[in-house]
Amino acid sequence: MSLLLKGGTVVTHEETYQADILCEDGVISQIGSNISTPADTKVLDVTGKLIMPGGIDPHTHMQLPFMGTVAKDDFASGTIAALAGGTTSIIDFVIPNPQQPLLEAYQQWREWSAKSYANYSFHVAITWWDDSVSQDMETLVKDHGVNSFKHFMAYKNAIMATDDILVASFSKCLELGAVPTVHAENGELVYHLQHKMIAEGITGPEGHPLSRPPLVEGEAANRAINIAGTLGAPIYLVHVSTAEAVDAIRYAKDHSQIVFGEVLAGHLTVDDSVYQNPDWETAAAHVMSPPFRPKYHQDALWKGLQAGTLQTTATDHCAFCSEQKAMGKDNFTQIPNGTAGVEERMMVLWEHGVNSGRISANEFVALTSTNTAKIFNIYPRKGCIRVGADADLVVWNPEASKTLSAATHQSNIEHSIFEGMTIHGLPETTICNGKLAWHQGELLAQSGEGKYIERPPYAGYYDTLQKRQELNTPKAVSR
Ligand SMILES: [Zn+2]
Repeated sequence: MSLLLKGGTVVTHEETYQADILCEDGVISQIGSNISTPADTKVLDVTGKLIMPGGIDPHTHMQLPFMGTVAKDDFASGTIAALAGGTTSIIDFVIPNPQQPLLEAYQQWREWSAKSYANYSFHVAITWWDDSVSQDMETLVKDHGVNSFKHFMAYKNAIMATDDILVASFSKCLELGAVPTVHAENGELVYHLQHKMIAEGITGPEGHPLSRPPLVEGEAANRAINIAGTLGAPIYLVHVSTAEAVDAIRYAKDHSQIVFGEVLAGHLTVDDSVYQNPDWETAAAHVMSPPFRPKYHQDALWKGLQAGTLQTTATDHCAFCSEQKAMGKDNFTQIPNGTAGVEERMMVLWEHGVNSGRISANEFVALTSTNTAKIFNIYPRKGCIRVGADADLVVWNPEASKTLSAATHQSNIEHSIFEGMTIHGLPETTICNGKLAWHQGELLAQSGEGKYIERPPYAGYYDTLQKRQELNTPKAVSR
């Protein structure tokens, strides 16, 4: 069946105009006025509503086995939450255990994700190194549509990638046309400060931000950027949360480096006062890494988005319930790290970005969808409204409003970091692969309807990068 959206205002990352949109066989087949309605077409009157590209969240962890437990939202509940919030695609993470073959872990995640309601793709983490890892990276890029690899600079004695691994893997990424991404926190400093806090008797959630102060991120961001710069590789920093990291990215961009920065809806709107909550459970519900920061960092993050220093917004959706958080009752370092947000991201960006005047509706589209599609090489198939693009759309009602709460969210956990935030302007209908997936509070998509998104490597673009690197490399002297 085809679907005709009639009477709406199309908003893309570059323009706003009145048009009807016809979706057929999963793609946008016509855009214009007076589209003749084919037989067997559902017509949806969207007068007064905005039609935007469906959101893409480039950072989620559904069903992640982590810190001795497994995240409560799996690929079913997590992607239902995504659709409820206007997000039609997620990029999740395959995280192999150290010594586990990458391909084995990748197949495991593909099995888990087969029940997805929304579209999905995977970054693959590099948690150890030998020749087989290098070989598997090549296979993942060439045969499985993976074009980005993640490196955790924190989590010592678990999944931390040390400098030797960063150098080897970034070099391999450059060779393959894949984007290296990093979680920038200095794992040695975190390890040291965690032990210091516990030794001083600071065992509650308030110890969490104290063990990961802003400089811990600033140091790692600078190091990752400088390693990538030395190799001539691009670099993407996930969940940038500090002024220090924004400064590092801006400096590198000013010096002709290709650097991308992602920011979480949570870091833009929630500050570190949450860790002082006298209720242990509520404070622990906010434990994630990097932690929420003193308020002045939010200003730097918004300015980073406005200036183009940061290009994407994500959530790091990794949901742990109160019972799981209680594993760290006597020691904050044992509290599973993670919070939810895949449902709320676009609403939070709309309220605090568009309604506050910080960004335009077109910039909103760029920051919630288009830029991610471009950086991860799925544009203009995704992140775009044009004939031939995938029909992944969100119909936004600028007049509707609601107050966010764990009582009404789709996630399986009892806390929301956005509890009590009132949003003016809501996603009302989500269209995924040309079908109504979520409509006026009702789930219409089926489990397994979400499609795996293959992301090809960047052939031409990487040519330019290598040439640019040659420009900056001294030539060998013949004697
Ligand atoms: Zn993450």
